[in-house]
Parts: sequence; structure tokens; C-alpha cells
Amino acid sequence: MPRASQRFMEFISTRNQVPPVSFRTAVAHGLAPDGGLYIPSKLPDLKPHLEQWSRLSYTELCKSFFELFATDIPKADLGDIIDRSYIHFDDPAIAPIKKLNENLLVLELFHGPTLAFKDFALQFLGNLYEYQIKETGQNISVLGATSGDTGAAAIHGLLGKKGVTSFILYPDGRIAPLQERQMTCTEASNVFPLAIEGSFDDAQTAMKTVFEDREFAEEVGLSAVNSINLARILAQCVYYISAFFRLPKEQRESFIFVVPTGNFGNVLAGWMVQQMGVPIKGFQVATNQNDILHRLFQSGTYAQEQVAPSLAPSMDIQVASNFERFLYYAVNSDSAEVRSIISQFKSTGNYVFDQFKHESFSSSRTSDSEIKSIIKSIYETYDYVVDPHTACGFSDINNTPSLVLATAHPAKFPDTIEAAIGKEILHPSLELFKSKPIVKYHVDPTPSAIKEFMRANL
Ligand SMILES: *Cc1c(COP(=O)(O)O)cnc(C)c1O
Repeated sequence: MPRASQRFMEFISTRNQVPPVSFRTAVAHGLAPDGGLYIPSKLPDLKPHLEQWSRLSYTELCKSFFELFATDIPKADLGDIIDRSYIHFDDPAIAPIKKLNENLLVLELFHGPTLAFKDFALQFLGNLYEYQIKETGQNISVLGATSGDTGAAAIHGLLGKKGVTSFILYPDGRIAPLQERQMTCTEASNVFPLAIEGSFDDAQTAMKTVFEDREFAEEVGLSAVNSINLARILAQCVYYISAFFRLPKEQRESFIFVVPTGNFGNVLAGWMVQQMGVPIKGFQVATNQNDILHRLFQSGTYAQEQVAPSLAPSMDIQVASNFERFLYYAVNSDSAEVRSIISQFKSTGNYVFDQFKHESFSSSRTSDSEIKSIIKSIYETYDYVVDPHTACGFSDINNTPSLVLATAHPAKFPDTIEAAIGKEILHPSLELFKSKPIVKYHVDPTPSAIKEFMRANL
């Protein structure tokens, strides 16, 4: 007789110093109490489902996928949450594919309300929180750090959700003006955009330290909207599966997925899908000039450098938090090894792997000047405009069939686009924000200042 608990999917911490939890608890915590990241205790095998799943619509696929993980939410409730999460997307395919030529396709992930791929997970997460609050009667305080797009997507996903107060840290002056407007011009009273002096890494580090204070976390019902939250990674898995099915049937297994990368959340989702049995050929980790992951995949050395602000600000990250999830699998689920590597990296900013297994990954780096020339040449060759993040996906395209993930709509970055192609790209949903007042708060990027601000405003 299987034990009753085995019917439920369990989630464990990469650091393995806390007991396993259910899906809803993993989502509510965000970061595990031992500072690790939650992962499924065992990855399900998707192969037996693929034939049937290949015929489903995006939202039906999403439901079938999440039923394997969210085993503590009744099916009907889960279905309802998912139905409501993709209604604000402006393309019926949700994640359509555009063909530039036979071997070069683009997966457009910018059809959500804030025009970046973050909407796929944050619309869903907002509805999950709402469900959670309804079930438990306990309010939630969201604390997030953003390199530009997470903040806008989180705020939009949580807008009007009763019982949720959002605090979003971002590096002042280092995100694009329209990204800032999407966050600071919402006129919502339960949203606090916190501008800090420093980089995204400073914001993310301070945020993680606040999470490690369990007493405070309990006191305010703290939850994480960053891609340390497993719900985000799982929601992103769905568009990899959907995209795989939309590739030309005979060629499905020959396409490389090229992923503009910062915190390693997006590409990790794709890799997990591959580990679960979807035969994706491989992934290219496309970085901007903040190339810690490119250097890692080239040399096996994980070495932190200063963040250098770039034209692709949402990828201006050196310490990629989701790397810890990949690391867990790369060291054969040895949590002691994960703890030792992370702690050495944290204290020295450096780790040299003897042997770094990464068969499925290649990598590239794109400088700012290349970003501009790529936007121009893609426009001239294909009459198609890519945003500066997506441009990084085109720097190392050769004849390998490639599917480039377009992570944001070009209208979010009008200055760079205009400099590159000499014309403006507009999007109606952004025009709205241009005339509204900016409301933001200045806070020191220290755990104590952040906690004090949160207490004062809850
Ligand atoms: C967040 C973001 C990225 C980086 O994604 P990660 O999951 O952090 O690797 C790339 N492009 C855009 C437009 C983004 O908003």
C-alpha cells in the first residue's frame, strides 16, 4: 500500500535542512526557510503525456502540467486560477511563434499585460495568492527585487488582489524609464516601489536576507515573487512544452532554444522540461556584457564581477539565484555539496568547478554595440524589430535551427530602438503611463531599513 502522502507531490529545499512541503507551502514561502530554493522532490516523466498534450490549447496544457505538481489544490480550483491567468494576453496563441526563415524562429513571450515574459508566471502567481488568502484568511506581503520587468509584472499580477501588499526593490536610475513608469504610475495604494542606491544584485541580496529572518517572515506573511519562487519556474515550463509542439514536426528535435538570460530562471524552466522527457535538443544561454554565466559555461569558473549597466537592463545580473537549482542537479542532488559551493561563492565571489556537467547548454555574450547592430540588421533583413534583451539571442546564430525566445516587446525600450533603426515603436498599453505621476520611495538596501519600511506601511 502506498502511503497517503505519496499521492502528493513534495517539494524539497536545495539545501535540504528543512522538511519537504506541499506546492501551496512552497509557493507561500518563496524562499525555503534554510535559504535554499524549492524544487520538486522528483521530476515527473512527461513522455507518456506528450502525444495527448500535443493537441491541447495553451491553457489546457498549462492545467494538465500543473495537475502533476499542484496536488494540494483541487482540480477545478486550479483550472479556474489558470483560466483567469491568461485572459489578459493579446494573442490567441498566448505564446506565438514567428518565422524569420526556415531555421530561425522567434517565440514571442511579450503578449501579456506588461509586455515581458514575466507575465506568464506573475499573472498566475497573483491568482494563486488570491486563492491562498481566500483559503487561509491570512494576508500576504510580497517582497521582490526587480531588474526592470519583474516589478511591473508582479505589480500588475497583484493589482486589485485583496489582502496583498507589494514591496518591490529596484536599482534607482538603472532600469528603463518606461519600466519604471509601469511600476510607479499604477496609482495603487497597496504597491510600494522602493528605489535603492546600488545594483540589482544589492537589492536581491538584501531581499534574501530579509527572507532568512523567519520571525519577520511569519509576522508579515512574507512571500517572494522573484524567480526564487518555484511557481514562476513551473509556469514558464509550459511555454517550452507549447513551443516544442509548435515547431515543424520533423524538426522538433533539431531546434536549439536560445534564451536571453539574467537570473537563470527562464532557461532553467526549459532545462527542467527537457529533464522531464521533452526531447528539446539544447539551450543557448545568451547573456549581455554581464556575462558570469557565459564565463561559467566556457571555463567552469563561477566568478562574480561588478555589474555594468547595459542596454538590456533586465539582464544586468551577476549572481543568478536560480543557478542554485541547476547546481543541485549538477552535483547529483548532494545538498551538502550545494551548501558548501554556495557558501564559498558567497564569501569569496568565486568558485572553480573541477568538473562541470552541462551537456545541454551552450552560451554567448553580447556587448551593447552588438545589441544595437543586431536590432538594425534583424530589422533590415527580416522587417522584424527585437528588443535589446531579445537581440542578445541573435549574436551567435549560425546554421543550427534556432528558436529565439523574445523576452520583451521592443516598445518598452524606445531610446535603444530609435537609435538602432531610426524610428519609434509604440504600444498602446505603455502610452497610458506617460502622463501619470511617478510615486516611489527611497530606502537603503539594508535588511533593517527594508523591514522598518514594510512594518510602517502594512
Ligand atoms: C527578466 C528578463 C530576462 C532574464 O530572465 P531570467 O529568468 O532572469 O534569466 C531577460 N529579458 C527580459 C526582457 C526580462 O525581463
